[in-house]
Amino acid sequence: MTDVTVVGGGMAGSEAAWQLAEAGLSVSLVEMKPCAMSPAHQSPLLGELVCSNSLRSDDPVAPAGLLKHELRRAGSLVIACADQHRVPAGQALAVERFGFARAITQRLALHPRIRIERRRIDDLPDHPVIVATGPLTEGALGQVIQQELGGDRMYFYDAIAPIVAAESIDWDRAFRGSRWGRESAPLDPPEEGEGERAAGGDTGVGDYVNCPMNKVEYEAFIDAVNAGRKVLPHDFEEPRYFESCMPIEVMAERGPQTLRFGPMRPVGLRDPRTGHRPWAVVQLRPENRYQTAYNLVGFQTRLAYPEQQRIFQMIPALHRAEFLRFGSIHRNTYIDAPSRLGAHLELRDRPNVRFAGLLTGVEGYIESCAMGMMVAWLLASELTGRAAVPPPPTTMMGGLYHHVTQPREGDYKYGPTNVNYGLLPPLPGVRKDNRKQRMAERANVDFDAWLSGIAVRAA
Ligand SMILES: Cc1cc2nc3c(=O)[nH]c(=O)nc-3n(C[C@H](O)[C@H](O)[C@H](O)COP(=O)(O)OP(=O)(O)OC[C@H]3O[C@@H](n4cnc5c(N)ncnc54)[C@H](O)[C@@H]3O)c2cc1C
Repeated sequence: MTDVTVVGGGMAGSEAAWQLAEAGLSVSLVEMKPCAMSPAHQSPLLGELVCSNSLRSDDPVAPAGLLKHELRRAGSLVIACADQHRVPAGQALAVERFGFARAITQRLALHPRIRIERRRIDDLPDHPVIVATGPLTEGALGQVIQQELGGDRMYFYDAIAPIVAAESIDWDRAFRGSRWGRESAPLDPPEEGEGERAAGGDTGVGDYVNCPMNKVEYEAFIDAVNAGRKVLPHDFEEPRYFESCMPIEVMAERGPQTLRFGPMRPVGLRDPRTGHRPWAVVQLRPENRYQTAYNLVGFQTRLAYPEQQRIFQMIPALHRAEFLRFGSIHRNTYIDAPSRLGAHLELRDRPNVRFAGLLTGVEGYIESCAMGMMVAWLLASELTGRAAVPPPPTTMMGGLYHHVTQPREGDYKYGPTNVNYGLLPPLPGVRKDNRKQRMAERANVDFDAWLSGIAVRAA
């Protein structure tokens, strides 16, 4: 008898199935390939990497490296197979993709508690299920999930704006203030090692940070956006832009003033240093509750990543910006998880249904794998009566988990994230050049303590 069905044998579903089986549960892993193939998948193997063969940095201090380190310690199937099929790629963990996927497929197929079924699922079963069908969820399942969510809380495209580290903003060239709103005020320059103070979290003079531009700066910026190299969509990603999430380069193409009447409009804002309304303004909104990261409001874009770095650094307050995430627009299916899912990634009105992977609003292979592991452990703990609590927010896994489950306030639009240090609580009083190292050390200590306190594996 099956205890849990896992739908989708990609990064999240493969990891989830393995973790459930290792916890002593019997698992049906249902994968539609090769009966049906998404436009991006090509092989019948489980654990298929749809594009790059890199699982990104393996440096234990880099965000992706720290997450892999945690996954390794927690017994991840995906990372074990990646380590086995590693190819030389400097500091990155890149893999020979067929060997990697074959290893995942074999280990799942040989597990005594896993049965692999090859068919497409178009409806949600009544018994416990983890849905991990990824960004290209096929068939009627997408609509069924949408109905369960109550209509408008599932997205089929993502249009995400870049995120910059608060401490990399030039606060001498920015001012805080909401449009038409409360009084604007210049910000104190950051003290060395005080990122959270640099973010001006308690100034109480408006939610937005405004990056003003004069006419010459604005025109140079528009020229650069028009000339910048863009990423072309895949064939199956025909551009269907909604007015509310139009890429900035499409707006710039419509005319030199379009952005100045759109996301860069200066109306309702006065620069306290000049007493005047700027010619144009880029607004930044806090991305996390720690206010250590800010997103560029309305700056979804298909500019290539190096172009984003070069062009957005032309904004005076962002001339030395560190980008925690670049903007992108692509076909994607994800749920507004913080508003619709519970603490165990379950549908609030139908708790037998859980979600994992990219569907929950994370980005990337290893992030999806981590969400597969976490949802499996949480479900296994309920079904087997063993103790499991989510990882602490100071760890990379915990940072991801909290991004997905933390309720948001106000007009926040939930968007996918990959791992970055902006997801973790800041470390006050630590110098910038040492901060990531210290945050990684804190994560390691807290992760080990958490891991030793939970019991998910079958004896
Ligand atoms: C074109 C493209 C390129 C990408 N490039 C990268 C990249 O370079 N690096 C990166 O980190 N991330 C990349 N991503 C994101 C990537 O998809 C995720 O990082 C990761 O694969 C998501 O893991 P997942 O387990 O959630 O979904 P997937 O790995 O996509 O797995 C989902 C599985 O569910 C199956 N499935 C779908 N619908 C059904 C159904 N109804 N019934 C049964 N089975 C079903 C699919 O066949 C698939 O095997 C890319 C995504 C796309 C679409």
